[in-house]
Amino acid sequence: MHKQKNTAFGSAATAQLRKEHSDEPSFKNLGLDVPILKVLDRLKFHTPTPIQTQAIPDGLKGEDIIGVAQTGTGKTLAFGLPIVQRLIRHGGRGLILLPTRELALQVEEVMHKVAGSFGIRTAIIIGGASMSHQLRDLRKNPHVIIGTPGRIIQHIEEKTIPLSDVSVLVLDEADRMLDMGFAPQIKKILHVIPKDRQTMLFSATMPSEIVKIATEHMKTPTHVEVARQGTTAELVDQEIYIVTRNQKRHLLETLLKQYEGTVLVFSRTKYGAKKICRDVNRMGHKAAEIHSNRSLGQRKEALEGFKRGKYRVLIATDIAARGIDVNDIALVLNYDVPEYAEDYVHRIGRTARAGKAGRAITFIMPSQSDKLRKIEHLIETKLPQTILPEGLPEPEREAPKAQRVRSGTRTTYRANRRGHRR
Ligand code: AMP
Repeated sequence: MHKQKNTAFGSAATAQLRKEHSDEPSFKNLGLDVPILKVLDRLKFHTPTPIQTQAIPDGLKGEDIIGVAQTGTGKTLAFGLPIVQRLIRHGGRGLILLPTRELALQVEEVMHKVAGSFGIRTAIIIGGASMSHQLRDLRKNPHVIIGTPGRIIQHIEEKTIPLSDVSVLVLDEADRMLDMGFAPQIKKILHVIPKDRQTMLFSATMPSEIVKIATEHMKTPTHVEVARQGTTAELVDQEIYIVTRNQKRHLLETLLKQYEGTVLVFSRTKYGAKKICRDVNRMGHKAAEIHSNRSLGQRKEALEGFKRGKYRVLIATDIAARGIDVNDIALVLNYDVPEYAEDYVHRIGRTARAGKAGRAITFIMPSQSDKLRKIEHLIETKLPQTILPEGLPEPEREAPKAQRVRSGTRTTYRANRRGHRR
């Protein structure tokens, strides 16, 4: 396994200058055909990112690849460019599996930009979208199918998806797909597509189930890695606040005044996201929410609005946030500490993208010290605690666990009455 230090890749103009005056990596040395280099030039991608430098040459040779890379490292082109070159030269079909609709939409956007000028057609097959549109797109015989495992299985069952000639498979954000319970669907898809194919697997973390998939379904893969497993984006300034539940909203208000720029707020639940969104709008900031209770159209509108500056604040749950590709998120704010330590890495990977600096703030309640310990253990860093600003409400004592009260046929949950309110 060879490691390479992750470096910032700066603006296109400085990158070009640096390239001319040093022996910095260049797309030209990776084995890409001239027409693809021209497209990259047109898209103003001049210097490959470390994961691209490492993965593209072997990817172009048709080798299997395991990439340990966080979001924001440029991994889409790391697998996307080898797919495009392969399809141009040899035909066949690409299948890209990923965990969420948003990620699918964004990967398709990148693939379309690069592959579109070569007549390579893409199709997005995701849950929540119109089945008839997907059938129409599939009938056009797309060269690259990008989708979430659940909906792809649906098409397999209805025999409406052409997978018998898949020559290259990508499992993107594989750890998240497993977290979301997609393992059975992935196994089923792996059995349907040809064994003689190239497989590229990308994941921010490398739990043992992924190693197992790789051992069983990949051919001695090349291992590429841009940051140690569990490490956080180098450029993110991280801090925590220890707060009680009743102080969170006020602290959020203070921080939104204190910091400039776009803010991505994480909520543990979709109901929480809705409430935070309402609160933030009342605070006078334009905010939108993105979670599984929103329709695909609403999620797209929120994301587009956030990208274009219509909304300054986007409130998201972990699942919905996967694949959010916005380069200028100034602050990631964990309103609720993530349920799983790995999600911390994914969340803060949303800021400090494309070599820019970023900040991540996490609210931790006194009873959540175990979660904090797990995060610190994973990232091998002690997160600095910032003193609470003045003017917040007095900390309330944390309520004991809710008690279940049965009355007649209805079961209600009520806080234990010992002078606490939740
Ligand atoms: P990804 O990790 O693939 O989601 O990419 C993160 C961001 O980096 C996206 O906005 C890409 O457009 C951008 N990006 C990818 N590769 C490069 C590159 N070689 N130079 C500059 N930006 C890039």
